[in-house]
Amino acid sequence: MTQPSPTATTGPSPAPGAGAAPGAGAPTRVLVLNSGSSSVKYQLLDMKDGGRLALGLVERIGEETSRLVHTPLLGGGGEKREKHGPIADHAAALKAVAEELAADGLGLDSPELAVIGHRVVHGGLRFTEPTVIDDAVLAEIERLVPVAPLHNPANLTGIRTAMSLRPDLPQVAVFDTAFHTTMPEWAARYAIDVETADAHRIRRYGFHGTSHAYVSRETARLLGKAPEEVNVIVLHLGNGASASAVAGGRCVDTSMGLTPLEGLVMGTRSGDIDPAVTFHLMRNADMSAEDVDVLLNKRSGLVGLCGDNDMREIRRRIDEGDARAALAFDIYVHRLKKYIGAYYAVLGRVDAVAFTAGVGENAAPVREAAVAGLEELGLAVDAGLNAERSDEARIVSPEYARVAVAVVPTDEELEIARQSYALVSGLAGEA
Ligand code: AMP
Repeated sequence: MTQPSPTATTGPSPAPGAGAAPGAGAPTRVLVLNSGSSSVKYQLLDMKDGGRLALGLVERIGEETSRLVHTPLLGGGGEKREKHGPIADHAAALKAVAEELAADGLGLDSPELAVIGHRVVHGGLRFTEPTVIDDAVLAEIERLVPVAPLHNPANLTGIRTAMSLRPDLPQVAVFDTAFHTTMPEWAARYAIDVETADAHRIRRYGFHGTSHAYVSRETARLLGKAPEEVNVIVLHLGNGASASAVAGGRCVDTSMGLTPLEGLVMGTRSGDIDPAVTFHLMRNADMSAEDVDVLLNKRSGLVGLCGDNDMREIRRRIDEGDARAALAFDIYVHRLKKYIGAYYAVLGRVDAVAFTAGVGENAAPVREAAVAGLEELGLAVDAGLNAERSDEARIVSPEYARVAVAVVPTDEELEIARQSYALVSGLAGEA
């Protein structure tokens, strides 16, 4: 397989703002931007201690009913502020965010800002590390649009807008796919004709990588070990959901593939499905490729099975005796259990299974059901520990269990901030 050359922009090449050397008086703040098709989420962090100074969200960009919610957190925090009214595009959204930050004395023109870190969903094989953004990097992210048509264009818009607001500041892309680029060829390749696959860059890339990287490392810390010493199965169960097998800190398999559709049952996505379903529907149900795309990505998963994609609502319905909700839950858990078993076999030895994201962190019944019956594999939860609510990383398996079951809150923004800051600090040191 032709392996594209490793990224050329992660080295010590001169970068804008590379003068941001760490040390006394050096800027330590990082603005993290997560630009979606109609939303921008942001956090401003100070890498002196990783603390948050502000966070917020602009949603429904391009509509009449746009909304900005800004939460100042500096010095004990302040009142949450909301603004309603049309915000035409990402440029207007970022300008509105900049105004909110400036009102708290945290403007984008602040000399304390070291870098803007951007979440970029698809980095293909080219980007294995966080990367300082220049024209060549922008062109490559653009080239990957065919494999990430929903996400990469929005990410690009956010980056270009931020660059126009602070052209002198380094901007770093942190890729959702990067953590998975260590997957061996036998895990990454689909068993289809090699020439066709290579011509169209069809392979398994995996997503949620920033979360899998953060959670696998935090799990090692929770066990009092170095990441290199532990094998972890990470279950990122949010509205989107993915599993990964992490051996000694490196990803060796993950459940999402060419796109985030493959793998676990999700809020609105089917996860694994016989691909023949697609052509069956196209041939027999008068559906276009676009129709099937919408079916599998938006009208499937939990919402397709029972009409709800919120696990809280599904649990409530189950408690009321709703059979459809109960079946949706069982299908969700069955798939999860299959991936735990598969990744157990892939890793050979497992030190921990870590649950994270909205469902993984909060839904005790999902954790309990996912490991039920796996005692022979050394897996169990302690009912009392599992039921306790907490924002802290914690172990919920009984002491006798050979494999730790952990609940580890994910923090993608902190991870993006850390990686972006480390990169520009390193660059500055070497420049
Ligand atoms: P995320 O994508 O990580 O923000 O996760 C969002 C999902 O987490 C929601 O759709 C809910 O299904 C789930 N979730 C959030 N809080 C809870 C909770 N307390 N109990 C069960 N599920 C929850």
